[in-house]
Amino acid sequence: MTFVLDSSALFSMEDLPSDDIAVPPGVVDELRRYNDPRVERWGDLLRVSECTERSVSKVKDAAMRSGDAGRLSDVDVSVIALAVDLNGIVLTDDFSIQNVCKIMGIEYRSVATEGIKKVEKWNYKCNGCGKWFKEKQNDCPICGSSMKAHRKR
Ligand SMILES: [Zn+2]
Repeated sequence: MTFVLDSSALFSMEDLPSDDIAVPPGVVDELRRYNDPRVERWGDLLRVSECTERSVSKVKDAAMRSGDAGRLSDVDVSVIALAVDLNGIVLTDDFSIQNVCKIMGIEYRSVATEGIKKVEKWNYKCNGCGKWFKEKQNDCPICGSSMKAHRKR
């Protein structure tokens, strides 16, 4: 059984399920962008795999029909497309991704239903000005520096 994980699933998990885990490169990039400590810990366990353009178009068509297109990032689309290519199960807590999976007949599960221990909360600290944020930010909204993920205690 192959699970394909989206960023929301990966960000919320304390441990990985003991199955084959595949992710598109974009998902790993997101973890790296936050200097997430789990990248080091999980690096060897994640199978990073590119999806085919053919599957990307199929997913975009389905998202257009369902009205989810505007709510899906390119990375989200590549997660679903990779599940098509690998015949995998999408692991996500994102409702738009789940909806497109449903329409396309792709099996999906939420992180909670898999019984995976979730991380309580993560906070994000700017590497430049040192300000803390509750929500995930691509770059610091104040000074534009990169962010680092910290587990809330
Ligand atoms: Zn800053």
